[in-house]
Amino acid sequence: MARGFADATADRAACPCGSGAKLGSCCGPFHQGLMKAQTAEQLMRSRYSAYALGEIEYLIASHPEPDISIQKRRRELRINSRQIRWIELEILAVECGGIEDCQGTVQFAAHFIAAGQRRCLQETSLFQRRDGQLSGDWLYIRAL
Ligand SMILES: [Zn+2]
Repeated sequence: MARGFADATADRAACPCGSGAKLGSCCGPFHQGLMKAQTAEQLMRSRYSAYALGEIEYLIASHPEPDISIQKRRRELRINSRQIRWIELEILAVECGGIEDCQGTVQFAAHFIAAGQRRCLQETSLFQRRDGQLSGDWLYIRAL
């Protein structure tokens, strides 16, 4: 699918993950399927910016939840993206999850506004590569 002017403009905006890089050279290529996250932290950041930007299909693809239908997940993520405005991500700690690892954890604080209130979600997330193989894509598994 051809990408329009609006996308090109978005690519030049600061990436929501707070890396200081522009979206087009940070999390954007992951959302568009042009590149794969190489580390657990990259996947964490790109999932946060996917929440911030409403990239629902990316959120579904990077977090297996076989017991919940895709339709239900889409519906819930759409509601979530209407009700929550994500404002800042802080990465607090990273353990493993590098290019030579098959598993890792990322501890983060994600700041958001919901119902007019500023809030913070703190979580240590577990990430694993698909099928436990070094060649597998990084996936978000669950909160620890
Ligand atoms: Zn980013």
